[in-house]
Amino acid sequence: MRGCDCCDEPAVARVREPDRHFCATHFTGFFEDRVASTIRNDDMIKPGDRITLALSGGKDSTALLLVLAHLMPAWENVRIVAITIDEGIAGYRDETVRAAVELTADLGIEHHTVTFHDLFGDNLDTLLVGREREACTVCGILRKKALAVAAERYGATKIATGHNLDDEAQSVLMNTLRGDLPRLVRDAAQENTCFIQRIKPLSLTPEKEIAIYLMINNAWKVLPECPYTRFALRAEVRGILSKLEYRHPGTMTNLIETKKKIGRYCAGAQVSEPIRRCRECGDPCSAALCQVCRLRHSLGR
Ligand code: SF4
Ligand code: ZN
Repeated sequence: MRGCDCCDEPAVARVREPDRHFCATHFTGFFEDRVASTIRNDDMIKPGDRITLALSGGKDSTALLLVLAHLMPAWENVRIVAITIDEGIAGYRDETVRAAVELTADLGIEHHTVTFHDLFGDNLDTLLVGREREACTVCGILRKKALAVAAERYGATKIATGHNLDDEAQSVLMNTLRGDLPRLVRDAAQENTCFIQRIKPLSLTPEKEIAIYLMINNAWKVLPECPYTRFALRAEVRGILSKLEYRHPGTMTNLIETKKKIGRYCAGAQVSEPIRRCRECGDPCSAALCQVCRLRHSLGR
């Protein structure tokens, strides 16, 4: 059996790009160091920050909370509040909410659950009747709003999400496939359309390494998959990109690099409407009405 590149223990994890082998201890160190340097290089966390962490209870946000909880003692006066958004998806969300409650109790982290039902008057399943194919679009718009409401309610200065390298690469490809240049440029420029800054400390961490980190740290849980995943373009893009990454290592990182270059080349260019206020709710948006208000109208609410 091949040994760890850093000690005499047997290797339990292989990392590509560059090709390295690690024992459990050195993999955990490597993993947490990369998250710490992602945070440092982008100046994501400052002394005194109160961070709202979007904790779905799934693997990405679970790993993010574990890493931030480990790193937190090194930061001056930084607090984390975990927020779980319960969209109201039967047979799926209850289990992940339970996992989130257990994890935060174990770590001694403040935790709150915010429901679509309380904020928007109904759960996602009911809102989607007859328009299930739009599930992820509707869910994404409302979840973003729910997180912003929760962040404001609990006095957050930053919103941290568990988006990983695979998610980020998928988004670049999806925006390209949809021909959505304004969004691609907005993402590339890390333009903030919310009042509270969003940070993604796992954005350079591959999904596979998150799974290894959770297994090594006894935090891996098999949870149900969202029933609406089958309608999502993301699910197809994910399959295609995983195959490409396997056959051509570095594909995902190259997509992220492309996004950064687009951001640099388009810096200052007016590719989308300037940010203004929604005429109904006052939220920042690029049209007369924000996405949430438009959605409310189309849902007849
Ligand atoms: Fe929401 Fe779509 Fe994710 Fe399900 S798969 S939780 S509907 S975004
Ligand atoms: Zn609005």
